[in-house]
Amino acid sequence: MATYNVHGGHSLSCRGAAKYLDEVNEDRIVKNKVIQYLRAAGHTVYDCTDDYGTTVNGNLAAIVQKCNAHNVDLDVSIHLNAGGGTGCEVWNYDSRTKAISDRICANISSALGIRNRGTKYEPQLYVLRNSNALALLVECCFVDNMTDKNAWNAEKCAKAIAEGILNKSISTSSSSSNSGSASKPSTSNLYRIRKSWSDTKSQVGAYASLENAKKSCPSGYNVYDWNGKLVYSNTPSSSSSSTSQLYRVRLTWSDTKSQKGAFASLDNAKKTCDQNPGYSVFDSNGKAVYTSKAISSGTTSGSSKPAEKQNEPSKDITKEDSKPETPKYKDISPLKGFTNEQFLEYVGHRAKEDMKKTGVLASVTIAQSILESAWGQSELSIKANNLFGMKSSLSGNTWSSEWDGKVYSKYSNEEYNGVVTSIKSDFRMYSTVDASIKDHSDYLCGAKNGSELRYKGLKGETNYRTAIQIIKDGGYATDSGYVDKICGIIEKYELNKYDKDEEVKDDDIIILPGDVDISDDKSDTSENVSGKLDSIVTILQTILKAITNGFDLIKNLFGSKK
Ligand SMILES: [Zn+2]
Repeated sequence: MATYNVHGGHSLSCRGAAKYLDEVNEDRIVKNKVIQYLRAAGHTVYDCTDDYGTTVNGNLAAIVQKCNAHNVDLDVSIHLNAGGGTGCEVWNYDSRTKAISDRICANISSALGIRNRGTKYEPQLYVLRNSNALALLVECCFVDNMTDKNAWNAEKCAKAIAEGILNKSISTSSSSSNSGSASKPSTSNLYRIRKSWSDTKSQVGAYASLENAKKSCPSGYNVYDWNGKLVYSNTPSSSSSSTSQLYRVRLTWSDTKSQKGAFASLDNAKKTCDQNPGYSVFDSNGKAVYTSKAISSGTTSGSSKPAEKQNEPSKDITKEDSKPETPKYKDISPLKGFTNEQFLEYVGHRAKEDMKKTGVLASVTIAQSILESAWGQSELSIKANNLFGMKSSLSGNTWSSEWDGKVYSKYSNEEYNGVVTSIKSDFRMYSTVDASIKDHSDYLCGAKNGSELRYKGLKGETNYRTAIQIIKDGGYATDSGYVDKICGIIEKYELNKYDKDEEVKDDDIIILPGDVDISDDKSDTSENVSGKLDSIVTILQTILKAITNGFDLIKNLFGSKK
């Protein structure tokens, strides 16, 4: 008989991925069933799950400590994946576990009818690297994929895993205890729908399944777990309130560059804070509301390994279909490090040349590029020559485009109402700045809304305010102040001189030290493609923008001034 360690990934307070499924809820069900199956087959099994870790690293360390307390034949770690893919996969330290891993993958894939992503190797995964015995990390399916969600069955998945480990099929009758009474949750483990946790009278329901609680959560109400932790909110989002109410983790409020993240939930901000000695959590008014425990208690783990390598869960939620785990994009932009003057010099005459070909006013193009690329210093500009935040998919891509199809994927772990998830956005990557400008103009001139040109009348329009109004009205921007912002930039830097025929001399370009309200990301200026984006993505983008602003906007405002 063999001996096994089995654990569910993450802890109850430091949770894994969640979207259509909640990783921690599901991996607990799976690991319990796997343990049941293995024990029913006569094997010794230790449950090495850690429910109580309050930080990612604390949780991982606790799991490994439990695992290494036993001399076993195999450690099995149960997770659910996220990041936009579909199917199951199993991560291995090396090929010694390949046969088991292959069987588990094949079994889950056929039991659930989802894609088999196969056996993968990643010796850096914390649990695989630090456990003494052979170890496997199973990613059962993707929590953020509807196909996987619809196919999901924790019990079938558990059986598939156990059969893979044992290399034999398990007759269901032998483990006769049906799910009904045995796994019925106690009343304390229910998700409650209330206006606020303390307002118990407002409760409109309590559910064992988070999914059901979410479905039944009326507008203005929240779902809380049994610890009172907010896990879902059905508060109508207004972008201004959600961005302004973020908790920011910084060394000091004024040290914006030190920011480690911005969170809607104070709890999550505290967790990040705890991983960064000396850091504090600041509310939206800059008031310090929490200071990292790591410095006040003086306790350290004694481990000197770099945190990012220990950070297995963040790795597991950024893995993605057919793509290297962490895409390594080079800095390809010639604009990198340019001053504003240099930027204008470079982009100005290109926009003017573009105007001759496309009929889009140069002043408008330049002002948009300033606003949307933060004077060429945004991530999208530096890594993808994408000055306008152009997404891969725009207006059904039916217009004639300069773009050669190369994609720049931006990943970010985002937190919304206590749920950390990874979102991926695909943007266009261009080989040159010229291509970016041309593609943007082609889009503005050719994109359609139904059978109509989206920005009808833009081509050849010589009044910049009219031109920008057409762009705004076509759905390019949702920001009600967009027209004024662009006009303000044009007027401040006298960009309309680029709209005229005569040569613009370098010494005409005068940059005042004042700031323009720049933004790195086009989240609030991206074309709203007929409401196709679901609301969670919109909300996440709002937060992404807030976080981006926290880093890049402020970096550019304060970092690059001469
Ligand atoms: Zn996980």
